[in-house]
Amino acid sequence: MFARQIVSGGKIASKARIGAMSMVSRRGLVGQNGVGGSQPKSLLRKVVGTTLKASLFSVLAGTLWVSYELYRESNPSQQKPQSSTFENGSPRKTLVILGSGWGSMSLLKNLDTTLYNVIVVSPRNYFLFTPLLPSTPVGTIELKSIVEPVRSITRRRPGKVVYYEAEALDVDPKDKTVRIRSVEKGEHSYEKELKYDYLVVGVGAQPTTFGTPGVYEHASFLKEIPDAQDIRVKIMNNIEKAATLSPNDAERKRLLSFVVVGGGPTGVEFAAELQDYVDQDLSKWMPELSKEISVVLCEGLPNILNMFDKSLWQYAQDLFKEERIDLKLNTMVKNVNATHITTKCGDQIEELPYGVLVWATGNAPREVSESLMNKLEEQNSRRGLLINDKLQLLGAKDSIYAIGDCTFYPGLFPTAQVAHQQGEYLARVFKKQYKIDQIAWQAENCKSVEEKAKWCSKKDKLKTLVEPFKYNHQGALAYIGSDKAIADLAIGESKYRLAGSWTFLFWKSSYLVMCLSFRNRILVALDWLKVSFLGRDSSV
Ligand code: FAD
Ligand code: NAD
Repeated sequence: MFARQIVSGGKIASKARIGAMSMVSRRGLVGQNGVGGSQPKSLLRKVVGTTLKASLFSVLAGTLWVSYELYRESNPSQQKPQSSTFENGSPRKTLVILGSGWGSMSLLKNLDTTLYNVIVVSPRNYFLFTPLLPSTPVGTIELKSIVEPVRSITRRRPGKVVYYEAEALDVDPKDKTVRIRSVEKGEHSYEKELKYDYLVVGVGAQPTTFGTPGVYEHASFLKEIPDAQDIRVKIMNNIEKAATLSPNDAERKRLLSFVVVGGGPTGVEFAAELQDYVDQDLSKWMPELSKEISVVLCEGLPNILNMFDKSLWQYAQDLFKEERIDLKLNTMVKNVNATHITTKCGDQIEELPYGVLVWATGNAPREVSESLMNKLEEQNSRRGLLINDKLQLLGAKDSIYAIGDCTFYPGLFPTAQVAHQQGEYLARVFKKQYKIDQIAWQAENCKSVEEKAKWCSKKDKLKTLVEPFKYNHQGALAYIGSDKAIADLAIGESKYRLAGSWTFLFWKSSYLVMCLSFRNRILVALDWLKVSFLGRDSSV
């Protein structure tokens, strides 16, 4: 309201100014024609004119740029076909990429796919922009806005890429093969073996439960699109079921108790989105019922958002109090059944009823990563695939690389930022590797011993030019509700800690920039605009 008054006041003021200016200019004209002396243009008029022209130009240039990018994205150029050899007769190597997540798709987007026969294997035929996933169960963002089909990513590459909608079951590092099984279970299902020269494992991780009984049976995770859909259905159904019960019915209270376990960024962002939905939308359509909804967040440690600076997690905790999110700190969830969770806080054991339970307690390795670990002696950690500083898998350094959440490397966290940078780095490595392979082929095929030695030394020199991966941490962002966010930024050696509504705008802009495609950027921006004017949709 206040903002609108300022804006409309501004309009009135500018109209008055324009009126005054036109009088000035008319007088100027009279002066020119009548008296013969030209008066200098008013400074104000010059400033307004230039600003208007600059704005018009920016809008025009922006529109042209967006249209061009959209056109380019939706009209990919011809691709070079795959082949067994290059024009000089050297063999074209096969690069198999497992996964279609942050790491693998960042690699593919930056890879020169004309240098290899590239094969992508992933059971998920799209890339998922996970940072906005917590916004989807309550409808702040539509699910389709944060996915990008693998087919459009592969089609935009200069060289043809083969894609299998399948999961990798097993990797044989000795034979250099991967066994895959199609997602399709019907008559067109298949299981096959793919031979590779180079393999990139980017299969991510699965949610961990730390062995807590009942989680798989009764809780929802928040990792993939079907998880977000499942949570949405449960929330909306519970609200409708509760509406049929009388206000003092204990079952109504249980149905309206939404519990989130894990105070990491996933749990915090989802709890914040849920409370926003209750306060900003449901309160309009079901005012009485919305007051009965409780959002509870259980965290085993003394505070939430451990990876952020103390001032920021403190800010988030204070805001949660204001937002009426029931924060249960030092509270470990020990058991889950169909209607209750058992929590332990110090020596106190409590039974807490819940209607919807969202479990967000971090990552564990996937089966395919575990089976690979079991095959290699050097893989002696249970936390993830062990890699060296060039992202080569320990035990299979000449042919297997691993990136993202499926790996464990001290100092690198399982974040999109890390996986994305690792993908970019590997694209550069594979460009160099192509040159190394070409030189190796020259060495193998030359007849004179001196020439062979020359090529070999050239190859060794090139190998030393492959630099180790250097992670550039740019900071962490999290949405904490009520149009507020926190940011723990690192720019060079300096650290910046920001919190509040401006940080929320920064959060929004950063995620828009990070979206994989222009199409996603536009869809996400439109979703935000839609919600601010029309509110969130409460239907399933
Ligand atoms: P993923 O992106 O998980 O991709 C793994 C891929 O492997 C998927 O395509 C999967 O289908 C495929 N796959 C699985 N099994 C197989 C198999 N057997 N064979 C072949 N393919 C397989 N990080 C941030 O930095 N900032 C954030 O704001 C942020 N927000 C997040 C919000 C949520 C809700 C979640 C869950 C995570 C968030 N993260 C964030 C973490 C980030 O999403 C992960 O670190 C990132 O996705 C890791 O990328 P990845 O490529 O290793 O794995
Ligand atoms: P997390 O590992 O960051 O946090 C899990 C939390 O659950 C921990 O604080 C842990 O103490 C708690 N916990 C574990 N078991 C518990 C139990 N039984 N009862 C109560 N609490 C328990 O997990 P996450 O939030 O799923 O994040 C996974 C990864 O993805 C992290 O690396 C994170 O940085 C990244 N991520 C980043 C963002 C962001 O940057 N905005 C958003 C989401 C996820």
